[in-house]
Amino acid sequence: MSGRTAFLDRDGTINEKAPEGEYVTGPEQFRFLPGAEEAVRLLDAAGWRVVVVSNQRGVALGRMTLGDVDAVNARMSHLPIAAVYTCPHERGECDCRKPGTGMFEQARAELEGITFADAVVIGDAPSDIEAGEAIGARTYRVGPPPLPSLLDVARQLIG
Ligand SMILES: [Mg+2]
Ligand SMILES: [Zn+2]
Repeated sequence: MSGRTAFLDRDGTINEKAPEGEYVTGPEQFRFLPGAEEAVRLLDAAGWRVVVVSNQRGVALGRMTLGDVDAVNARMSHLPIAAVYTCPHERGECDCRKPGTGMFEQARAELEGITFADAVVIGDAPSDIEAGEAIGARTYRVGPPPLPSLLDVARQLIG
């Protein structure tokens, strides 16, 4: 299992997502989901490289800046995450917004040794799963029960 890449969505996968139509616009709004930090540490310890890929359309809508996104992402800076990629664009205006695959391709270009066929994509939205399928990765949908949590999936992967 060593050397593989786990692409993780952020909101709703690692941290609590904002209510529909709202965004996590500041670090004080960032709350880890139960077990999410442990999941990232377990994956890293088992040799998985963890990369976060996140749609943040709130930037395009003027609800927050890229600096705000960075400040939110800094709440994860104690975790072994290799890189965080953000799509700040409006729908239909780029190739990076999931279910587009641009962020995954950027990661593959910038980080050594990413093989999509050996990667997993973990997220709470259909667009995460669709993007994962588009790159030929294994996909895992997480969410509130009865769906598994990120920790459940991590334990399964390192099992
Ligand atoms: Mg999400
Ligand atoms: Zn984009």
